[in-house]
Amino acid sequence: MTRILIFVKIKPLLLLLLSGLLTISCGNNPEDTLTPEEIYSAPPEVVKEYGFVLDDFTVERDTVQKGDSFGKILFDANVDYATIQEISDSVQPVFDTKRIRVGKPYVLLKAKDTTNAAQVFIYEQNKEDYVVVDFQNQIKAAARKHPTTVYEREISGVINSNLSSTFDDLGVSVNVAYKMADVYAWTIDFFKLQKGDRFKVIYDERFVNDSIPAGIGNIKACLFEHNGREVYAFRFKNDSLPGGVDYYDETGKNLRRAFLKGPLQFNRISSRYNLKRRIKYYGYKIRPHKGTDFAGAIGTPILATADGTVTKSERRGGNGNYVKIRHNGTYETQYLHMQKRNVKVGEFVRQGDIIGTIGMTGNTGGPHVCYRFWKNGKQVDPFKQDLPDSEPLATELMPAFDSIRKPLKMQLDNIPWLSETLDDAAEEAVNEERLQ
Ligand SMILES: [Zn+2]
Repeated sequence: MTRILIFVKIKPLLLLLLSGLLTISCGNNPEDTLTPEEIYSAPPEVVKEYGFVLDDFTVERDTVQKGDSFGKILFDANVDYATIQEISDSVQPVFDTKRIRVGKPYVLLKAKDTTNAAQVFIYEQNKEDYVVVDFQNQIKAAARKHPTTVYEREISGVINSNLSSTFDDLGVSVNVAYKMADVYAWTIDFFKLQKGDRFKVIYDERFVNDSIPAGIGNIKACLFEHNGREVYAFRFKNDSLPGGVDYYDETGKNLRRAFLKGPLQFNRISSRYNLKRRIKYYGYKIRPHKGTDFAGAIGTPILATADGTVTKSERRGGNGNYVKIRHNGTYETQYLHMQKRNVKVGEFVRQGDIIGTIGMTGNTGGPHVCYRFWKNGKQVDPFKQDLPDSEPLATELMPAFDSIRKPLKMQLDNIPWLSETLDDAAEEAVNEERLQ
């Protein structure tokens, strides 16, 4: 308790010393090195931002408005046209001054003299990256990054409607949901989630200046309970795989399957394989549908559902733009009505590679990809096939995997389920009422 108190008290001064003198190493206990007198006589804190002592300037913070340009902003800040041109030209390799965007924050550091002219222009490209254009003496520009810190976060949640709204309710970036959908792409159909399905996840999140969220890192481990079935996933670097990193269940079984469930990141089936399909347009005559249609907006990436070699990539008749891939002696897959094809015949593609985009070419009423699954030269329903699992981890990798899995599993198991936390809170409230 005392230690924490002291740390909090000492912290601003310690930071100052670290940035200024660097005499105190991190391991040293500040209590031993600083007397109250020293603390008292410390100079006032110097505020440095973007590498400048802000007190030396008049600081103006603003955002790029409609109609603004780099030239206009500087001209309004008392910089003459010739200088602006010279600045623009000389910083070009680092910073294209024409590319400033409406809504982006910028900072002007102006001279504290009668000219009140800008001397430094700082442009925030995104939460992490910024550019400093310094024309105090000679003109120089530098691309820099705000310091970022990575924090590990743990969450648990219960599905009430769909995954992304559940994350919204939790106040957690929906990107975590997308990443989780990726992890489970082969094992859980995220379009068939049930109310009451629940999950726990451990992931990294980056913060700028310790406070502004700047993006989601990797999911380290997660647990999904779908329909009462638990599926653990642990991130593990397997050097024997191209790409290396993959997710495995608690027994070391790869969560990937030999085939993806469908050719889209989020698979929504609009028409199933059906040999007895009747179509109104054809007078309700039987028109077998030997493919599975996955709906998606025009331009949605289409993924190869398994590793293989492209055998067809062309535009032809009712198929429109299509790609066909041979995976092995038994299986081939085919993808129809593409807007764009990204692969050529003879090319080797990996599972999950983007081979094209959803379009409406050929014989189709709306944007979708017709996914055709061939087994021994015949079209079959991929959802009725007993498709092979992918390779489990090699025995010699198991010790390394276990050393990663064990602590993560314990950590996952210790995260309370959201409902438990709610129950506890409710119970506490009841107890408190009783006490009153
Ligand atoms: Zn179809």
